[in-house]
Amino acid sequence: MIRKLYLNLFIIAVLVGLLGALSGCKGKRLISRDEEIRIGRQAGDEFEARYGLDRNSQVRAEVNRIGADIARVAQPPNYPYEYRVLADSQPNAVAFPGGRIYIFRGMVEVLKGNPDKIAWVLGHETTHVAHQHAVRRLERQLGQQIAIELLLGEKKDIAKIAGLISDLVVLDYGRDKEYEADRVGMFYAHRAGYDPTAAVAVLEMFQEIQGRDPNDLAIMFATHPGNNDRINHAKHYLDNQGWTGHYYSP
Ligand SMILES: [Zn+2]
Repeated sequence: MIRKLYLNLFIIAVLVGLLGALSGCKGKRLISRDEEIRIGRQAGDEFEARYGLDRNSQVRAEVNRIGADIARVAQPPNYPYEYRVLADSQPNAVAFPGGRIYIFRGMVEVLKGNPDKIAWVLGHETTHVAHQHAVRRLERQLGQQIAIELLLGEKKDIAKIAGLISDLVVLDYGRDKEYEADRVGMFYAHRAGYDPTAAVAVLEMFQEIQGRDPNDLAIMFATHPGNNDRINHAKHYLDNQGWTGHYYSP
């Protein structure tokens, strides 16, 4: 019995390792793009049901307009991006695999509705989709899920998986991918005609809010290398691009 347990644990370890390695390989995909979009939408619906959509049609229209500008320049890959506003006071934003992006009302408020700042935040989240940070994480999770299901002889349950991602989405992607999202977010904002230096102002403001209440901004700015690093990283990128603007010039 004990022996069988060890054997099972060993098989899980091997499968998790194997699938993890597979999903980590460039070019090898565990799930198709259609599945990515379908699962991301379902997980998004679940997340949305938790907070509800914001009723302010002016804010919604503004976010849609800016989101459409970002989505236009974030190609390829061509994802069906949707930008929605959640009725919650947290200053947060999240991205689901396949293109569903949520900005919380609290975020729009701390940005004071400034289009350049909103453009960068949406650009940051859009990068997590376009550069497939979101789907890779989903694949890693699926890899483990599939390994366990294979062992237990269970059937893959999309609803369960969607539930899993809607919880996962509140975590950050790790330092490198967050830096990448910061940079590419500026790139998208610039290409879409917004002032990319707004990123610096937003990061500085987050740093200030976080100093006041470290629990805030759990999503976009959770476990990050001190925000100073992110601010410096953003300035460095702007310097390299030779971009100056209303919020930063070297
Ligand atoms: Zn991020």
